[in-house]
Amino acid sequence: HAKEQGKDRVVLFENFMAENVIQRIQLEELLRDAITKNEFFLVFQPQIDSTNNSIIGAETLIRWNHPSKGRVSPAQFIPVLESSGLIIKVGYWVFEQSCILLSQWLKQGTWSDTQLIGINVSPQQFNDPNFVETIIEILQQTGAPARCIDIEITEGLLIDNIEDVITKMIQLKSLGIRFSIDDFGTGYSSLSYLKKLPVDVLKIDQSFIRDIPNDEQSIAIVETIVSIAQHLKLKCIAEGVETKEQLDFLTSINCNRIQGYFFSKPLEVDDFIKFINDKKSV
Ligand code: C2E
Ligand code: MG
Ligand code: MG
Ligand code: MG
Repeated sequence: HAKEQGKDRVVLFENFMAENVIQRIQLEELLRDAITKNEFFLVFQPQIDSTNNSIIGAETLIRWNHPSKGRVSPAQFIPVLESSGLIIKVGYWVFEQSCILLSQWLKQGTWSDTQLIGINVSPQQFNDPNFVETIIEILQQTGAPARCIDIEITEGLLIDNIEDVITKMIQLKSLGIRFSIDDFGTGYSSLSYLKKLPVDVLKIDQSFIRDIPNDEQSIAIVETIVSIAQHLKLKCIAEGVETKEQLDFLTSINCNRIQGYFFSKPLEVDDFIKFINDKKSV
């Protein structure tokens, strides 16, 4: 009897796997023409200097609104874009749209050229042999200034081809582009890479912010990251800051660059512009 049950379980498991594979293929199919069908759009999450409440930048985050499925979370569809290679095309779309909006905002005086726009770049996209020239082309075509662009990379990029990665970063940095390491501390990190990499900013992952100020380990990790950033003369942004308690703790250790729901959720363009204008009129 037990054996029979075991067999059932295997069948169930196989069904589950098959369903997963089918779901993935279906999702990939839908994503394949989501760009041309205009189903993607961008939201922007402000980054605040908590010492004076000014906006120092904003991160671009992609959203997908499928006509019948509705909103699909990036946590669900980014991995499918990555495994299918579609992330390269979508990533350039995000970059281009961000640059178009950035140019508009600068012209309108909504944005200033001391404020940054953070754009996520997946390892596959960064490793595209045409990455540097495509970025340069987009900047030229949209008129967006490189000094306003902050490219967010993840530690996953640093697993291999490190010399190649550094070469590309130096080329882009010479134009004025900044680099941040996203989700810092969660991936494959080696402190010797930090020394070699021409990065400007460490973004403390939200998983470390979540349990401060109550969890001693989280406190130790956050303090350590802030201290590494200070010693290496890098900037440091805390992600996922939701509460006054978290903000107060970060202030106490002199981490003043803040991104999180405490100040604002990611906003659609109209609401983002309203957020900027409301801050100005205060
Ligand atoms: P990420 O780059 O680390 O982005 C931060 C994520 O944290 C965003 O999730 C944001 O909405 C969320 N977040 C911000 N503040 C808070 C907070 O106070 N509390 C909580 N609980 N969450 C907060 P989102 O938009 O769902 O994006 C998830 C991930 O998907 C991003 O993580 C990034 O890795 C990826 N992603 C999003 N847009 C793009 C894109 O255009 N290109 C690429 N390659 N990846 C993207
Ligand atoms: Mg990011
Ligand atoms: Mg992050
Ligand atoms: Mg992430």
